[in-house]
Amino acid sequence: MNRYTAHDKKVKILATLGPAIQSEKDVRDLVINGANLFRLNFSHGEHQDHAERLNWIRNIEQELDTSIGVLMDLQGPKLRIGTFANGPVTLKDGQAFQLDLDSTPGNDSRVNLPHPEIIAALEEGMDLLLDDGKIRLRVTATNGDKIQTQVVVGGELSERKGVNVPEAVLDLSPLTEKDRRDLAFGLELGVDWVALSFVQRPEDIREARELIQGKACLMAKIEKPSAVEHLEEIVELSDAIMVARGDLGVELPAETIPAIQKRIIKTCRQHGRPVVVATQMLESMRFTPAPTRAEVTDVANAVYEGADAVMLSAETASGAYPVESVTMMSKIIRNIEADPSYQAHLDVNRPQPNATVEDAISCAIRRVSKILDVAVLINFTNSGETGMRAARERPKAPLLNLTPNLCTARKLTLVWGVNTVVRPEFAKPIEITPTALEEAKRLGMASAGDMVVITAGIPFGEPGSTNVLRIETVQ
Ligand code: PGA
Ligand code: MN
Repeated sequence: MNRYTAHDKKVKILATLGPAIQSEKDVRDLVINGANLFRLNFSHGEHQDHAERLNWIRNIEQELDTSIGVLMDLQGPKLRIGTFANGPVTLKDGQAFQLDLDSTPGNDSRVNLPHPEIIAALEEGMDLLLDDGKIRLRVTATNGDKIQTQVVVGGELSERKGVNVPEAVLDLSPLTEKDRRDLAFGLELGVDWVALSFVQRPEDIREARELIQGKACLMAKIEKPSAVEHLEEIVELSDAIMVARGDLGVELPAETIPAIQKRIIKTCRQHGRPVVVATQMLESMRFTPAPTRAEVTDVANAVYEGADAVMLSAETASGAYPVESVTMMSKIIRNIEADPSYQAHLDVNRPQPNATVEDAISCAIRRVSKILDVAVLINFTNSGETGMRAARERPKAPLLNLTPNLCTARKLTLVWGVNTVVRPEFAKPIEITPTALEEAKRLGMASAGDMVVITAGIPFGEPGSTNVLRIETVQ
């Protein structure tokens, strides 16, 4: 029997793949140490690189007889300045600097900004942030195809650096031409999740949904102030949310991010949408084998707040210690989950059930696992919907979903506490109790004398019909 166990922690790890991960074996090392799903970051790399990585993931998934989700992250409308004629320039505080539509290489008094829609959206008094917020320019005048600015915070600026304009809602589709090409490629590869960058408004989600056509689930990255303003609606319309603290921390003052993170997580839990906390979680591990105390505490706090998953970016994609980063994150997660106050933290923000059968059953299994010492909560599911609603309750006992549907299992890898087994025979009329008990025993999630809870929709194969709750003792 394979002793690889994915169920030794409830909070999931989303690890980004990049040049630091060179082979199938590297992917296996990340999975064995706690990575549950992977991000293919389409801001970097060629299509063939992503295809190769996806292939490694699928092979390891089979080898370990588990499910591993794949998230493609679209670059989105990331804005950049043009080039400079003679290398980087230095901008001095207080000087004038022009941004324009002229593609001629720039100098220390002007540079190309090849985005007419930003030039059009900017107004006097608004700020532009360059190079991850290191440089700040304030608009002093606008004039059709160019804007005049004054340097508020100067510094060295090199070509093609990113531009953020926090105050403006830009008339931009969340999907650029590149995103559309990448998306078609990713859907063809068979990714499970698509992350949408720089979402500004609820319509952005609708636009992406039309292109995705139900072939993958949709994650909205919250990294713009306007997305924070429309949070409730964006959460409602999306399948999952990422707290994308990298760009969010440029667009908004860094000191406002912790409160926003808490609010996003709380809103997602209310709506039963999985939420990922991302960026700089173990940043120093890009270069050193151990994290700072502050980073450990940051990961721990995201866990206490009730996040479904925590993400590693450059730590695993291009850092020197990818396996150590995943291992460290797993250790932090397991330690917090073992703290008796963790469950109390989760209970404080427990959402009210909706008036549906799924929520009534999910609420009931949570209660049962508080009253009785239940080893595992087993659920037969097709779409994964009940699995998601059960996770929303954050029950004490681990969740095990049995599904005939591989896509469901891969989708659920993002979701708090959910483990999944895929077997085609779960689609057929089977005896639910012996099947459920056998799976729980096989995975080491229950043994003789343990009590387990089983939920299912009888008869099988009819959607939305979870209607049975059984309490059984393993023989
Ligand atoms: P990115 O998104 O890594 O694609 O920029 C995450 C973030 O902005 O935090
Ligand atoms: Mn980002």
